[in-house]
This record gives sequence, C-alpha cells and structure tokens, in this order.
Amino acid sequence: MNIPVNTPLLDESDKSALIKCIDSGWISSEGPLIAEFEERFAKYIGREHAIACSSGSAALDIACAAIGLKDDDEVIMPTFTIISPALSVIRMRALPVLVDCNEETWNIDVFQIEAKITSKTKAIIVVHIYGFPVDMNPVVELCKRYNLLLIEDAAEMHGQTYYDNKCGSFGDISIFSFYPNKHITTGEGGMILTNSDFFASRSKKLRNLAFEPNLRRFVHEEMGWNYRMTSLQAALGISQLNKIDQHIKRKREIGKKYQKLLSGLPYFSLPIDELNFSTNIYWVFPLVAENEIIAEKVVEYLNSNGVGTRPFFWPIHEQPVFNKIGLFVNQSFPKAEKASRCGFYLPSGLALNDDEIEYVCKIVWQSISTL
Ligand SMILES: *Cc1c(COP(=O)(O)O)cnc(C)c1O
Repeated sequence: MNIPVNTPLLDESDKSALIKCIDSGWISSEGPLIAEFEERFAKYIGREHAIACSSGSAALDIACAAIGLKDDDEVIMPTFTIISPALSVIRMRALPVLVDCNEETWNIDVFQIEAKITSKTKAIIVVHIYGFPVDMNPVVELCKRYNLLLIEDAAEMHGQTYYDNKCGSFGDISIFSFYPNKHITTGEGGMILTNSDFFASRSKKLRNLAFEPNLRRFVHEEMGWNYRMTSLQAALGISQLNKIDQHIKRKREIGKKYQKLLSGLPYFSLPIDELNFSTNIYWVFPLVAENEIIAEKVVEYLNSNGVGTRPFFWPIHEQPVFNKIGLFVNQSFPKAEKASRCGFYLPSGLALNDDEIEYVCKIVWQSISTL
C-alpha cells in the first residue's frame, strides 16, 4: 500500500460545479461566484463580511496590512506555527514577539501572553493548531484590557467550536485557508472574515492591487497585491461548503478510529480527544514520541512501508530565514522545540478509508517492535 499524508475528497458535484463555471465563461475574479462563496462562508461562520483571496497566507498578509501594522509595532504570536503569520508581520516591518506552546494541544500558552505585552504591542495573533482551538477567553480578555487587536488564524479549524462559538468568529480579523488538506478545499484559496466595515473595505482594496476608487484607473496611493480568488476556486468552494458537515464528521471518525487502534501505544503520546471547551476536530492525527530518536526511527519505518507522514511545524524562533536577519537569536521555547523534534502526523486526508487506517496502525505497531 501507498498512503499519502493527505488525499483530498472531491466528487461529482465538485466536478459539475467546475464545469458549470467554465461554461459560464466567468473564470477570473469577476462574475457572481466570488460574492456567493463569500456570503455563504460568512453566514456559515457567523460574520458580517467575508473577503475571498488566493490563499490563507495571502489572507494573513492582507489582515496585517488592513490593521495598519507598521515599523516598531509588536505582535504577540506563537512560536509553534506555520511560518505564514510571522512572514506577514515581518513584511510589515513589525516585530513578532513569540510565546511558547502548551504540551497538550501545542497551541499558544495563553498564560504566558500578558508578560509579553509592552507599550508597543499592537495585536495578538492566535493560531489554532491541529485539532483544538486556542483557549480564547483569556486572550479576548487581554485584548479588551490592553486595547489590542486580535487576528485569528483559523486555517485548520473550519467548523470547530470554542464553547458555543465557531472558530473564525473571534478575531477583529479572522482567516481561513482552503488548501487541499483543509476541511474544505478550493485547490488554493483563503478567506478573510470580519465584522468591521473598515477592515472589510481595506481588505478588499488590498487584495486588488489597492486600486483607488476615486482616482484615475491605474493611479495608486499605496501598495497592494493581486491576491484575488478565481471563480473556478469559488465554484469549488461553494460545492465543498455544501458538504462541510460530512467532512467534519468523517475527520472525527478518522480520529476516533486511530485513537482506538493506537490506544496503549508505548513511547508516544496520542492527541487528547476532548477538552472542556472543545472536541478534537482531528484536522490531522498527531503523535509525539518520547524523544527525537524514536520519532526518527518510526517515521523512517512508516515511510519505507508506504505510509506518508508530515513532521510538526518548525518553531519560528529557530527559522534560519529569520535568524539570518538577527531575529529571535538565542531565544528558547522548550515545549515548541520538543514538539517540533518529536512530533509528526499520520495520513489524515478526507479520502482515507478504513482499510487504509487499519494498515497505517498495523505499520505503526510493527515499527514499535523494531525499536
Ligand atoms: C494551511 C495554513 C496556513 C496557510 O494557508 P495557505 O492557504 O496554505 O497559504 C496558515 N495558517 C495555518 C495554521 C495553516 O494550517
């Protein structure tokens, strides 16, 4: 068997949505489908405005520009995350101020945030990691008390809830990704959500080269991007959104099946299934080994038996690209360092079937006997 770490689930209704879009002739960002996808996604999460764009990373660039980050602003964010939010902050010449993760969910340790707040702090970026939301109440309280803006990276959390509220409903600006390993996909794609008319109009302008509505066409007063989504992507997005509840249900089934078949696995910790504020959405199924050597050996065994894996994120403070420009040098965040070296995840794509899960688990158990 050969089981990639992710296989997306696309079906006939997705195909016919794409064909319909092609037949309509509206394939750029013009036409009715972008607005329809935006409206439906805004409604699904429960926000006033949705602005579709070309990726989750593009959405973060726009979010950081829309809130007006500038030189010397500080933005508190997790060190354990994909590089995108740090890139967006640094490109605005602002400074990410990093916080370690907790060991249970690998989300930002919310109890270490307040000590990092200074007079320069402008915003907090939370990133919901792998299966659980960040513990939002303490973060929201800090934002209110210190008058900070909140950017919420919900790229892995479509449909996940924190108590009764959906992820993506917390940020002054929240973002999603529709990369093929997310709960719904548009191939590449992203979304910005906000309740603020101002941030919404800023975001719309910035995704479209910052064209000025009141100036002669092609005369610009600020720097934007072409981060527009295409109608082909929106057509797929609408079709996928119709199936989001089934997708989430299947993700949780996959997670539960792994939990059952891997229960009692020595040398590894399995993910938590439930917290008081949330049930694991199992965006991926992560394993963390007792030490780096065990992780390496097991990954090698899995890969050589056709089981795809993906290592955990590499901490922002250890990214060569940032260290080279003098950022985060000599900083240390032990929990993120341990997770990044000992953690990886198993095949978790929506098209994964039960036989494949059973095969993966068989190989995982076999790998233990080789240690
Ligand atoms: C996938 C992901 C992104 C980036 O989204 P792209 O669409 O791939 O640019 C950002 N943040 C998190 C947490 C992600 O998982």
